[in-house]
Amino acid sequence: MSIFLKIVKGELPCNKVLENEDFLAFHDINPKAPIHVLAIPKIEIKSFNEVTPEIMAGMTKFIHEVVAKLKLDENGYRLITNVGEDGGQEVLHLHFHILGGSKLRWDHLADSEPKKSI
Ligand code: AMP
Repeated sequence: MSIFLKIVKGELPCNKVLENEDFLAFHDINPKAPIHVLAIPKIEIKSFNEVTPEIMAGMTKFIHEVVAKLKLDENGYRLITNVGEDGGQEVLHLHFHILGGSKLRWDHLADSEPKKSI
């Protein structure tokens, strides 16, 4: 069972931001920005590759609520979901990183250079 499913089941603690019947948001244990929160579905979904449009509709509404609660809607934030090995996904349970609280950088994303033809 993934770490995040254990958090959903109450077997591991988390620093909760918001919760409803279907989704949970909590602070990342190793923050990469002044505010770094993870939003997850409570049911087991391994990554964005497996999520349905219907669940994403609920997830979108939930993330909007989290962003409002964190007061990130005015100055902005970054929303990231890592998928698979190249995406750098470490926890195999769908999660959206919500990052903000200061101006974020946008460089050094890949180990190799962008392809010139794109
Ligand atoms: P990813 O690399 O996209 O799979 O991101 C996994 C994230 O989960 C990382 O940013 C970790 O710091 C975070 N993380 C791992 N374990 C915990 C935990 N127990 N509570 C909160 N965040 C966690």
